[in-house]
Amino acid sequence: MHQSDITICADDFGLNSEVTDGIIDLLECNVITATSIFSESLLVRQHHDWIHRHRNMAHFGLHFNLTEKVAAGAFCSLPKVMLSSKLRFISKNKIVHQLDWQIKSFADTLGFLPDYIDGHQHIHAFPVIRTALIDALYKNYGWDWPWIRGVEKITSGGGSFIKEQALKWMSSGFSRELTIANNKVKITNELAGMYDFNPSIDFSKLLLGWIKCSGPKTILMVHPAIKENKQDPIGKSRLNEYSHLKMLSKNIIG
Ligand SMILES: [Zn+2]
Repeated sequence: MHQSDITICADDFGLNSEVTDGIIDLLECNVITATSIFSESLLVRQHHDWIHRHRNMAHFGLHFNLTEKVAAGAFCSLPKVMLSSKLRFISKNKIVHQLDWQIKSFADTLGFLPDYIDGHQHIHAFPVIRTALIDALYKNYGWDWPWIRGVEKITSGGGSFIKEQALKWMSSGFSRELTIANNKVKITNELAGMYDFNPSIDFSKLLLGWIKCSGPKTILMVHPAIKENKQDPIGKSRLNEYSHLKMLSKNIIG
């Protein structure tokens, strides 16, 4: 077990106020030490001061987004992005432009560049998008890249075999391509936290299983929300995750 090597990272900061408030609460309780931000969300601006007050408590990263309607930004469905990227129909230049815009929007709003980059639904690791990521990283960081979420090695235990296989298929060769472009790049080794979003699952049990099975440099992604948002298709699961993570915080503090 390599518990000390696991970073518990809450995804989707800025998606809606329920998600954002849940992440804020869990970060203040020391349960999570990283959060991935939708930089185009107006909620990021609203929480500028809070993020600055907690700057040293966690890593704040860019959750690169093409597939979720956030604020006024354009979006595409995940199957469409998967297919067009795998078949290389997607325009690399358009993706570089989007990435560049989202990185700049993060930096303009918060006053610092993202500590790391990942992608909503892991799109950053898809073909063509990953090549665009390399260009955008050079453009914004020179050679000194932030750390990147690796998604090729998945910690099992969540019972989502098809999702795992689809991600492996989409992300195969990701780390190799980034390392060829910059051999100093830091890519996390393993991804835990994938399951079928069953809202009544014993999430504590899943968490303990992932922690036990994970190797070094693992990102354990979580998707908490302090309340259920009825418009959110996984709103119930987010609340379930929050409740279990909050129990974990009582163990940490108590
Ligand atoms: Zn996400």
